[in-house]
Amino acid sequence: MRRNKINPIFSSITQLTGIGPKLENAFSRLGIDKYIHFIWHIPYNVIKREKHNKLNEAKLNTIVTFNIKILNHQPSKFKKQPYRVNCVCGETPVDIVFFFAKHPMIKKSLPIGEERYISGKLEYFRNTFQVTHPTHIIESEHINEFKDIEPIYSLTAGVSQKIIIKNIQKILKIIPELDEWINKDILNKYSLDSWRNSVLAVHNPASSENLINSNIHRRRLAFDELLAHQLAIAIIRNFNQKKRGIIFNTSQKIINEFINSLPFTLTNSQKKVWIDIHNDLNSENQMVRLLQGDVGSGKTIVSLLAMLQGITSGYQVAMMAPTSILANQHYTNIKVLLKNFSIKVLILTGKDKGKDRIEKLNQINNGEAQIIIGTHALIQDDVSFNSIGLVVIDEQHKFGVFQRMAFTYKGKKPSILVMSATPIPRTLALAAYGDMEESRITEKPIGRMPIITTSLLLSKENKLIKRLVEKFKKNEKVYWICPLIEESEELDLKAATKRYEILNKIFNNQVLLLHGRLKEKEKEEIMEKFKSKNFKILVTTTVIEVGIDIKDATVIIIEHAERFGLAQLHQLRGRVGRSNIQSSCILLHKENIGVNAKKRIKKMKETTDGFLIAEEDLKIRGEGEVLGKKQSGMPSFKIADLSFDSDLLEDVRLYVNHISKTDPKLESVNGENLKDLLYLFERDVAIKTLLAG
Ligand code: ADP
Ligand code: MG
Repeated sequence: MRRNKINPIFSSITQLTGIGPKLENAFSRLGIDKYIHFIWHIPYNVIKREKHNKLNEAKLNTIVTFNIKILNHQPSKFKKQPYRVNCVCGETPVDIVFFFAKHPMIKKSLPIGEERYISGKLEYFRNTFQVTHPTHIIESEHINEFKDIEPIYSLTAGVSQKIIIKNIQKILKIIPELDEWINKDILNKYSLDSWRNSVLAVHNPASSENLINSNIHRRRLAFDELLAHQLAIAIIRNFNQKKRGIIFNTSQKIINEFINSLPFTLTNSQKKVWIDIHNDLNSENQMVRLLQGDVGSGKTIVSLLAMLQGITSGYQVAMMAPTSILANQHYTNIKVLLKNFSIKVLILTGKDKGKDRIEKLNQINNGEAQIIIGTHALIQDDVSFNSIGLVVIDEQHKFGVFQRMAFTYKGKKPSILVMSATPIPRTLALAAYGDMEESRITEKPIGRMPIITTSLLLSKENKLIKRLVEKFKKNEKVYWICPLIEESEELDLKAATKRYEILNKIFNNQVLLLHGRLKEKEKEEIMEKFKSKNFKILVTTTVIEVGIDIKDATVIIIEHAERFGLAQLHQLRGRVGRSNIQSSCILLHKENIGVNAKKRIKKMKETTDGFLIAEEDLKIRGEGEVLGKKQSGMPSFKIADLSFDSDLLEDVRLYVNHISKTDPKLESVNGENLKDLLYLFERDVAIKTLLAG
């Protein structure tokens, strides 16, 4: 049970005044459903609002705060004319300007003859200083409450900085003081402050330096996050080790038959990892294995071999994908591959409702369904397997390790095979998965031609359009990826829509638009259309990233490639090159780009080796690259960023080892404190495990 002290911060955000269904929905898109999620929604940057007495000394076009005396109002006389308020700062004239102003409101907030503080961007227009639409108008007696430095949070449509700040500040007022769970040596080594102080400081930044990287308060929370994660993995591992796994001893006959039925031969790499997996399944240990392999290296076939071994040993097997598009794709492919075998394959996604769903649940429950493919729908409480033996997870970093573990709570203990398409360097794999066994597929199927990668200035895109026409003559298809802009979906969508409109005009209604705001069903329909010969170009935001496999798509164009992380660029590039036709990737970028962006584009042109790219990505980001977390393509934590915080990992590991040895059930005083930590990061599954053990 959670201790009373921390209960209040697990309230639903609907308890906060001002949060109705609409905001609830919007916040939910940011992963914020409970108070605690606000606490973990830490700012990714800060704005500095410098206070000035003399405007001449302030820098133009920066955000400044200064005292004004209001002299005169010049209300707008027609709609397009701005409303001007003439003021002075000391002796210097300055105008405050509003467009489409509500007159009474301005009169009230800036009364003639009085003084106020103003904060906003300082401009110089027709020989006068001016601030248009100041973000703050502050009465003099409140100026001391005003922060020079304001945090910036990532947003979503319908949620502004102001709303986020307001709500977070409310929650900060009720943050409890908790007993320390980190040992003294570590606290001293990194000069860490208490949990509560660190939370408060992260959300009320006092200096604009190093908020993101070396800020000591963020580092404390990063340590906590890594600790909670590793500790939870250790607890679940300890528990599972007590139970024996399933031995899948089956005759190889069907598996060999299947391998012979394939229209190709397995690569040596595929054969090698298959031997690893086969041996694991044959032994009495529960298999927990990470199967790494670049996009297109043929992981799915290998996982299917494992599934066959499970089935022929008399078990059901499940395959979980992050989206219903992918689940459907796997379902269709697997049905085709198994057409000569009498194996019952079933798909279960969130779309299954009512009678259909009940019928499917029955087939899962009575064992009739042998391969069950699906999304998160597979781990809902009412899904009960008859004899689950193996779970394959097409991970793509959209699942937490704990959803995966949820399978172990259906009373059974299936073997687990996680497939990852983004090659993960060893340090990262350890942090994300703990000590998991690992296999790598290192070669591509024979005959695949390496994708040719080039870069092109955005201003030369007309050249590109001509090349596309050639491709279309040969019935090849094109992905056109539009960039992430900051962390706002709304702006992403605008850019993609605009691009769609332009291309659709040129190519005569042969263009489709896919983005994250569509319903799963709509996305599937668009993907289906794209396969037909009527459509040539799919314009999309990065939703396309996950394992889509369309063989005729041979060109991928990435617009504003400079804004993407290296791992993500590589991941996107893997959407093409899935047949024996020469494929290409074109990185469109603007004229002046930063040093790191240049390095990333260069690396992409140099190599197609995903492992090399992953290492390089970590290196570049470690050099101080600040890309949004979404853009890295690596498994990510909410707070910890492994390109800055990997130095903490060793201490986390040692500490977790120590806890596992001395207090494995978290029964000591400090153990109880550590349970608070597990709750704070919602590692409740680990606590359930403790209670079960
Ligand atoms: P991944 O999941 O690793 O990205 P897939 O398993 O989807 O890759 O395989 C990509 C494509 O390559 C599929 O169409 C698959 O049928 C095909 N494929 C897999 N293995 C081989 C092989 N050994 N030779 C030729 N084609 C293969
Ligand atoms: Mg795949």
